[in-house]
Amino acid sequence: MRIVHIAAEALPFIKVGGLADVLGSLPQEQARRGVEVVVMLPRYRSINGPLQALGEFSYGFAGASQKARAWRSSYGGVGYLFLETEPDWREPYQPPEAERYLRFGSAAAAWLAQYDYDLLHAHDWHAAYALRLQSRPSVFTIHNLAFQGELDPDSFERYSGRRADAELLHEGRVNLMKGALLAADRVTTVSPRYAREIQTPEFGMGLDGVLRSISAKLKGILNGLDTKLWDPANDVHLPQRYNAQRLELKRRNRTQMLAIARLDPGLPTLGAVTRLTRQKGFDLVLQKLPEILNMGLNLILVGTGDEDIEAGFAEMAHTYSRRIYFKPAFDEALAHRVYGSTDIFLMPSRFEPCGLSQMIAMRYGTPPVARATGGLADTIDDGETGILFEEASPQGVFDGVKRMMAQDRLAMAKKAMQKDFSWGKRVDEYLSLYREALS
Ligand code: ADP
Repeated sequence: MRIVHIAAEALPFIKVGGLADVLGSLPQEQARRGVEVVVMLPRYRSINGPLQALGEFSYGFAGASQKARAWRSSYGGVGYLFLETEPDWREPYQPPEAERYLRFGSAAAAWLAQYDYDLLHAHDWHAAYALRLQSRPSVFTIHNLAFQGELDPDSFERYSGRRADAELLHEGRVNLMKGALLAADRVTTVSPRYAREIQTPEFGMGLDGVLRSISAKLKGILNGLDTKLWDPANDVHLPQRYNAQRLELKRRNRTQMLAIARLDPGLPTLGAVTRLTRQKGFDLVLQKLPEILNMGLNLILVGTGDEDIEAGFAEMAHTYSRRIYFKPAFDEALAHRVYGSTDIFLMPSRFEPCGLSQMIAMRYGTPPVARATGGLADTIDDGETGILFEEASPQGVFDGVKRMMAQDRLAMAKKAMQKDFSWGKRVDEYLSLYREALS
């Protein structure tokens, strides 16, 4: 079987969020099972070589023939193919997003037309247009329904050189996500619970009706972790490596971390590594932060996102400088150290398709306090490997942390570390889905 994945980001080349983790581990696991796998990505400027140049090819866009350049690399038995459609495209999701990914999709489809493969697996709306332009069996995965790739029909026509058909139109706008949902042979999302949630108006982001209409081909498959990359016993970023039998070693990481962050050395510490957007619920945390810290806690937060949430935490960190350390940055090394040194991981998401951070946290013996939604509810055993709270409100977060404070956290951490978050059987689920799509 020869599979082509197409997405906007993938480790080890470029990462903004969890999508990159998935595209940097699922294809490798598939390759290990004997599948031939290629991952297609845009060639962003910030991707550092060494990439092998494959030369130029033509594709149609905006009613004209255009040139793109292809590059390749390999990682973990998987071929990575990079398409350069615009030399100054620095990183994922840079505006004008819709135009850029439509262009990328057109180039990808032109390249695929020359290539022999069995099935295309497209991820999120950035890959939706390529899926529609090609004709082989296909699987589309929703990693986040909040981003659908919407644009006005006139712009779509200008860019693509075609009129939007009914499948692409949704409430008067072109909706690339919807187009892929309807065109794909199978649709997946990244947890069983999110697969159910998105069929309701509360979580459907306006597409719940479409999702209900395709429910027969929609399935939730949990994401796995790259358990080599995320392994406290072998993590180069940790001063002290540890496992479930030597959890006391993790305390040394905390001592060092609290000294560097100049926080109260005697207190248990909440950790968070996150995008600071409404989805992640940290605005709720802000509204109750003094009360939460008053339970006898520090907070270490690494994340960037919405200006008002960032400003709120910066101000709080200034006021409570001995209790809050806030780093408004994307910092891979610090992220590893937060997972590997804090006591409780905070993840109060309003919605969460799967979430990798809580799985990483459990693997590092840092039991999460999270909202009972999507993949959080599917991966955390309430009262066993973490705490789930129901209400997306400041009080909900407060109550969740309070419940956690009453737990035997050492026992919880040990149990959490024992859980299997590897791709394991989840890869088989994808492979049998591919077979269904191919039959
Ligand atoms: P999402 O993809 O919605 O952002 P996930 O929980 O699925 O959320 O995945 C987030 C991934 O990105 C995790 O690997 C997490 O460690 C990483 N991450 C998020 N924010 C940061 C940050 N500020 N610095 C480093 N890594 C981050």
